[in-house]
Amino acid sequence: MPELPEVETIRLTLMPRVAGQTVEEVVVRETRLRQKVKAEFGVQLTGRRFTALRRAGKYLLFDLDDGRILLVHLGMSGCLATSADRTDRHDHVVFRLSNGVIVTYNDPRRFGCMKIIEPGEGELSDLGVDPLSSDFTPEHLRELCRRRRRPIKTLLMDQALVAGVGNIYASEILFRAGVRPARGAHTLRGREIAAIHAATEEVLAEAIRWGGSSISDYRDGNGNRGGFQDRFRVYQRGGESCGRCGTTIRARPLGGRSSFYCPACQK
Ligand SMILES: [Zn+2]
Repeated sequence: MPELPEVETIRLTLMPRVAGQTVEEVVVRETRLRQKVKAEFGVQLTGRRFTALRRAGKYLLFDLDDGRILLVHLGMSGCLATSADRTDRHDHVVFRLSNGVIVTYNDPRRFGCMKIIEPGEGELSDLGVDPLSSDFTPEHLRELCRRRRRPIKTLLMDQALVAGVGNIYASEILFRAGVRPARGAHTLRGREIAAIHAATEEVLAEAIRWGGSSISDYRDGNGNRGGFQDRFRVYQRGGESCGRCGTTIRARPLGGRSSFYCPACQK
């Protein structure tokens, strides 16, 4: 599933080709995404200009010149890319822009979402702090952990608390911070919270530098694979040796998802 670094990479790679461009045509081939694409979707977009491309957590926000916003969530397997000549049966929505660029939304599992929202509609009001924003401070994270007894990993993945982190990056962040995924958030000491905060910024920045993680479907806005999947230290490495200490990495279910950690490096 695309997480913050994948969505940010798509934003960075798409921006130079879509910002300032007018939508000349929208073709909706498949309306049955997680929420049905509305009948008026294409009409609302055609003739509008993209003034900016922003990101909030795992959402992409295309600002339109009429004040509305095209909101995109990639779900489990969505990709938004400028396509070459190829077409695919999972290309569900296709945009043709005034500079001739074709942007295609491809989503084999169709858990994504694409809709037009009004400014101030409150669609994203329950989204937590974006970990790349200046609001994400050690103090903010300490406040989130206070009196929350749930595992720190599920707290990091709760989009209403920290927006953008999922299973991959929560696993990698906690390894680098030396904290086990199942630790109750309320038991964390100040220095551990500071380590998790620092590791969050470090891991996300590094993953963006590598163009995100391509495990199955993910491609960036130019259709290229990411490179961070080759740098995972624990994620999907259960049974392998820890690169830091040699201990066997464990895989354990936690909150319905697999959790990966080194029992020696993480306390
Ligand atoms: Zn280790």
